[in-house]
Amino acid sequence: MENESKTGKVQTDTFLAQIGNHQNPVTGSINTPIYFSTTYEHPTLGESTGYDYTRTKNPTREVVESALASLENGAVGLATSSGMSAVQLVFSQFSAGSQIVASRDLYGGSYRYFKELEKQGLYEFIYADSEADFEKEITAKTAAVFIETPTNPLMSEVSIEKIARFTKQYQAQLIVDNTFYTPLIQRPLDMGADIVVHSATKYLGGHNDLLAGAVIAKSQEVGEQLAYSLNTTGAVLSPFDSWLLIRGMKTLALRMQRHEENAQAVVAYLKKNSQVKEVLYPEKGGMLSFKLKNQESIKDFLRNLSLFTFAESLGGIESLITYPTTQTHADIPEKLRESYGLTPDLLRVSTGIEASEDLIADLKQAFEKLK
Ligand SMILES: *Cc1c(COP(=O)(O)O)cnc(C)c1O
Repeated sequence: MENESKTGKVQTDTFLAQIGNHQNPVTGSINTPIYFSTTYEHPTLGESTGYDYTRTKNPTREVVESALASLENGAVGLATSSGMSAVQLVFSQFSAGSQIVASRDLYGGSYRYFKELEKQGLYEFIYADSEADFEKEITAKTAAVFIETPTNPLMSEVSIEKIARFTKQYQAQLIVDNTFYTPLIQRPLDMGADIVVHSATKYLGGHNDLLAGAVIAKSQEVGEQLAYSLNTTGAVLSPFDSWLLIRGMKTLALRMQRHEENAQAVVAYLKKNSQVKEVLYPEKGGMLSFKLKNQESIKDFLRNLSLFTFAESLGGIESLITYPTTQTHADIPEKLRESYGLTPDLLRVSTGIEASEDLIADLKQAFEKLK
């Protein structure tokens, strides 16, 4: 994959490493300066340097926003204070009474937010699993479609191209949460989506030290509306956090490669393990789930692990293991969760960048202690 950098068209790895470089002719600074200033001097009445007030535009945030737009091949990129504020920003565009079709197997926090919107009487949500489901549910009444692919935590994929065909037919907006794959594996805007959102807290930031979100619009027009709305409501990413995100993104290509190699090694190990019922992995990326044959052993299994950390979240350099039933997806009613396969025997893994031998050794000893 390629991206347009300040020095011309380059491979995406090169683009990432160079974010913010060659942008400061006055000082030659390689590292992006952090502009903490909240306000900017006007040269005279009716003139501006281009920067007036930091909520509207900030030179540090601007660097990361333009990198995000380029990476996802969109017209406009926006950096927000969290992944949820990115989702909220996108949902601020629709008029009351709009109907939204969304993936059923979804990040628990997005599901909780959609329930809130429904409770306030703002929008109506319809949930869909398969491509055939989406085809059936997307109609002239649909204002937007919100998908995660692969789904979370069941890791099943739908074709963005196919769903985009249905949304285009009815002029509905297609929004893709691309947190799990990142633009290094999947670029939804090139596949027909209109808007991409990210929890940049995960792979883009990559170090479990930053809460951030991103919204990227394919068209200038939609991007400008979203930027207007973000300036109006205010959940922008702070200058310091913008700098942390730039710093994280510089190594995204290297990290994704190792996350994926480690996930593949862990998957190969789990598939041979007789205590494992099922392994869910879409063959790409650093996220996988698995089901234990003996659901009762989950507590002990988690306690036995010493290298993997039992914690929520994903996409950082440290390997994490999550129990969606009580953590990330606790807000989805039990009956509903289990109806689509999110059963209490399931664990979700985010492989970090450690040596895969050590990760497998940790899993192995945790399983052996169960016997
Ligand atoms: C974490 C996550 C979010 C929410 O992002 P925050 O940064 O925690 O607000 C949204 N979507 C997905 C897929 C996530 O994993």
